[in-house]
Amino acid sequence: MSIIVQKYGGTSVADKDRLFNVARRVKEYYTKGNKVVVVVSAQGDTTDDLIEKAKEINESPSKREMDVLLNTGEQISMSLLAMALEKLNCPVISLTGWQVGIRTNSQHGNARIKRVDSERILRELDQNKIVIVAGFQGVNRYDDITTLGRGGSDTTAVAIAAAIHADLCQIYTDVSGVYTCDPRIVPDATQLSDITFDEMIELASLGAQVLHNRSVELAKKFNINLEVLSSFEEKPGTIVKGDHSVEKMLVRGIARDNDVARITLKNIDDTPGKAFVVFSLLSKKNINVDIILQSLGRNGKQDITFTVPESMLESAVQILNDEIKLVGAEEIVYDKDVSKVSAVGAGMASNPGVAADMFEALYNADINIQMISTSEIKISVLVKQEDADAAVRAIHDKFGLADI
Ligand code: ADP
Ligand code: ASP
Ligand code: MG
Repeated sequence: MSIIVQKYGGTSVADKDRLFNVARRVKEYYTKGNKVVVVVSAQGDTTDDLIEKAKEINESPSKREMDVLLNTGEQISMSLLAMALEKLNCPVISLTGWQVGIRTNSQHGNARIKRVDSERILRELDQNKIVIVAGFQGVNRYDDITTLGRGGSDTTAVAIAAAIHADLCQIYTDVSGVYTCDPRIVPDATQLSDITFDEMIELASLGAQVLHNRSVELAKKFNINLEVLSSFEEKPGTIVKGDHSVEKMLVRGIARDNDVARITLKNIDDTPGKAFVVFSLLSKKNINVDIILQSLGRNGKQDITFTVPESMLESAVQILNDEIKLVGAEEIVYDKDVSKVSAVGAGMASNPGVAADMFEALYNADINIQMISTSEIKISVLVKQEDADAAVRAIHDKFGLADI
């Protein structure tokens, strides 16, 4: 007998037939004698639809009220799935994030899980029930509802798996595992049989939506047995695991992120402390800065260029404009039509040729690189958004990832 946490994404629970498909799968694991906890996302495009609904009422609602709204999507799925399992004669109970004690910090819209009180789930499992939990939601210390950021149900699943010491955490989705690249961009991308936690953290953080990056960070921290697989087909998925038994590949995957904008502060006085001022202003507003480049401007002055998530562009520009005297820039310019394209692989740390090959692929595809950033296991470039998919294909091709 094992304790298994299964998470089903929005497409997998989108309608009646799919809900019953999930219910049958859950029942199968349950009747084999396993204890099963199921985490569900909102059905289909429900979360996007709720965001649109909110905008009809108020262009910029408070983040607290957005969380109150958005968490309802998951509650619909959890109750419907519980009803489907009742119909299949299974003992079942559905619980909200609050009921299972998912405690988070207060960053509405992107809250971090601080702790999960496993007691209620364990009690229900002991009574031989299947436990369905609403993904994506928690409560802060004031008992206000929070959400974990888009795609956050994966993180709910892994956090619960860690809290109840599950033997396995399965993430069921609409593709059969983790591929060398989003199969929607490159149809001949290859499914990977396994991938290391570190590579998966990079891919997920760099835009591969298949797993929420925090879920992989948690899985690494608690050494959770994590598997990504299809809810529609019966075939082996991808195992995400520690380094030891995974062959080191030069490049294991390519990711693309369109949620990026580039900001340039033009002609800043070349005196000490300017970068400090700029980036502390942004950090006080919780704005994540990614690639940073300082270069020579006009008349011996400096330009500072950096990227932020597009969703944070407006607040970044606003704070910099408000403090333009302090920042000391002549002008602030920005561009939303950019994307970050990245190659990830644990094997590239010791191989200097990878960057050159990647740049050659882009050159041959006539794609201009605006910025570059590297780490031990990844190389990212900023390109025009309209070039992003072609860039992904060119790099995927260059490293022969369709035939591994
Ligand atoms: P769910 O609703 O099940 O959480 P998501 O839409 O969040 O599903 O994630 C699955 C999607 O992630 C796939 O449909 C695929 O288009 C996309 N994706 C992006 N990069 C990858 C990748 N490297 N491997 C597999 N899927 C990827
Ligand atoms: N429903 C949420 C979203 O669409 C959470 C999730 O699907 O994981 O982002
Ligand atoms: Mg997802």
